[in-house]
Amino acid sequence: MKILITGRPGAGKGTQAANIVSYYNIPHISTGDMFREAMKNQTELGLLAKSYMDKGELVPDEVTIGIVKERLQQKDCETGFLLDGFPRTIAQAEALDGILNSLNWKLDCVLNVEVKKEILIERIVGRRVCKNCGATYHIKFNKPKVEGICDVCGNPLMQRKDDTLETASNRLDVYDNQTAPLLAYYKEKGLLKEVNGDQKLDDVFEDIKNVLGGQN
Ligand code: ADP
Ligand code: AMP
Repeated sequence: MKILITGRPGAGKGTQAANIVSYYNIPHISTGDMFREAMKNQTELGLLAKSYMDKGELVPDEVTIGIVKERLQQKDCETGFLLDGFPRTIAQAEALDGILNSLNWKLDCVLNVEVKKEILIERIVGRRVCKNCGATYHIKFNKPKVEGICDVCGNPLMQRKDDTLETASNRLDVYDNQTAPLLAYYKEKGLLKEVNGDQKLDDVFEDIKNVLGGQN
């Protein structure tokens, strides 16, 4: 199963990606997570990514394409993967086609988690993530059992630096200008499947399973 999950910032990609990779037993490749990990380790890539992420801008295509290319060549991707947050530009989508062609692979499906723009700011500014394992919560819509503590690993939750009102608004504009054209790109290839992300978390996942079909 080789799939992409796309959608506006805050649509629920990461939340549903966690469900999908555990249910179908495939690796989760999130470019946002990869950049955050690099930032935590203060690598050269991390410092570069931070200068874009803090403003809600996209990290340059050549850098982002490079890390995805390297990741897809690892052994665990041979039987399948879920790409989350990549591609985000037409240039990235074209580069991904090239990478997949060179490996003799094809995408099975592009899931678009559709949520109206108006409710996304509340989702984004209320998001909390685990410092340690990256699990995602929401102060109102997906609370941890103990406030401020991760259910999965017991470590403290934090707010992402780019989850402020101002940066979130910019990220939504960046999506409209640079990422939204991907929907037509994948529709034309017959790969696009729409999922309504404006439902309870479990119901969104039920719809995703219906689209993707049986367990791996
Ligand atoms: P993305 O990866 O698309 O940016 P996330 O999965 O991190 O989005 O979700 C953004 C925020 O919205 C998180 O705080 C998450 O807990 C919350 N969220 C995700 N899906 C839903 C949903 N169906 N209903 C309400 N809140 C949701
Ligand atoms: P995300 O975790 O998907 O919300 O991404 C957080 C931030 O990481 C984005 O606002 C971008 O700055 C950067 N980023 C993640 N994925 C990409 C990508 N495919 N291309 C460029 N920048 C990205």
